[in-house]
Amino acid sequence: MPPSSAVVGQIFLKPKRAQPFFGRHPWVFAGAIDRVEGDPADGGVVELRSHVGTFVARGLFNSRSKIRVRLYSWDESEALDEAFFRQRLQRAIDLRHTVLRLNTSPDSAYRVAFSEADFLSGLVIDRYGEWAAVQFNAFGMAERQEMLGKLIRETLGVRGVYRKVEKGVGKLEGLTLVDGLLCGEAPPSEMVVSENGLKFAVNLVEGQKTGYYLDQRDNRAAVAKFCAGKRVLDAFSYSGGFGVYAANAGASEVLCVDSSEGAVMLAMRNAELNGLGQLTFAKNDVFNELDSLVAAGRNFDVVVLDPPKFARDQHSLPQALRGYRRLVQQGLKLLDRDGVLVMCCCTGLVTMEMLEELIAQTAVGEKRDFQFLDRRGPAADHPVSATCREGTYLKCVVGRVV
Ligand code: SAH
Repeated sequence: MPPSSAVVGQIFLKPKRAQPFFGRHPWVFAGAIDRVEGDPADGGVVELRSHVGTFVARGLFNSRSKIRVRLYSWDESEALDEAFFRQRLQRAIDLRHTVLRLNTSPDSAYRVAFSEADFLSGLVIDRYGEWAAVQFNAFGMAERQEMLGKLIRETLGVRGVYRKVEKGVGKLEGLTLVDGLLCGEAPPSEMVVSENGLKFAVNLVEGQKTGYYLDQRDNRAAVAKFCAGKRVLDAFSYSGGFGVYAANAGASEVLCVDSSEGAVMLAMRNAELNGLGQLTFAKNDVFNELDSLVAAGRNFDVVVLDPPKFARDQHSLPQALRGYRRLVQQGLKLLDRDGVLVMCCCTGLVTMEMLEELIAQTAVGEKRDFQFLDRRGPAADHPVSATCREGTYLKCVVGRVV
């Protein structure tokens, strides 16, 4: 039976706690809640009310998550039914198709929906040509997966929808999902998508995240502009995205480094798909590889550092910052005069200001002059909702070192 859109509970806020939710913030944490009326089941539709009973918004309940209610609509007359989710999905698609024009060919790849950023808290959808990958990062969304899968197929016209599960989400939301086909045809083991005229292989079943890092699309193109005739290091290379763009732009040599065997194989495949011969590959821990390259006196003209998320909470932040500092320090050592450093950071807890400060301090420590050339974020198919700026995560700082 499809989950009902009937309202099954009333959530009353504590006095003076309603303001963020009138301000359309979508996460209601347990601490803001005074009482729950109606004994709603997890995933059920509830109404959020101020302590005097005024309607605030409608959302989905989850007793097992710190985020007790995720809010979706501030319109009292709007039910959270299939028509509602279809409309929200269409709104997300309109951004990518009509505003950003990212669906230029049958093998285009782009993020279709990005959770809170698209007013669909807990739902992430990526399109890879004729297939879509979907992540259910909230209990209420997971419960509606059959309906959402059907809507994704109908609105995007894809042949199949594949479910990917993000690490750690099960525990946070009380979910027991596994990767697998949600609906339609199973994806082939290799799909080839195009990005700015380059080809990238995507394996939905085996790949990291939903298969490919779409958020770096514009940053890869921006960095490629510095790479003609240059020696480029692509550290944490995964698909080899930065390296492939660099080689295509005429880099004289490109070294891709990743600790995952699968990632190295994928980067090799992508070099081959694009007929690029200047790439070499190292399967190694980047920290160790950087040490070896420095010890060997190697030099590069462009160094790209695109590490995975280093911190999920405040507790692990100091160690994460030490990691970033070490990467910048070694990266600077490898860069010749007029070198370009590209430092990416997808830890949301590290702000752009913090990252710039860290780079500035490290450059001084290394007795190098550093100029910021470009401060970038993710591509626009990864927007941030004005009412949930916690969605800000990826930073990409490009600078010249003298
Ligand atoms: N730049 C890539 C995305 C990088 S994702 C692109 O454009 O596609 C981060 C990558 O870092 C992953 O492939 C992961 O395997 C790798 N990784 C994580 N920790 C690592 C480490 N200590 N040393 C080397 N690679 C690491």
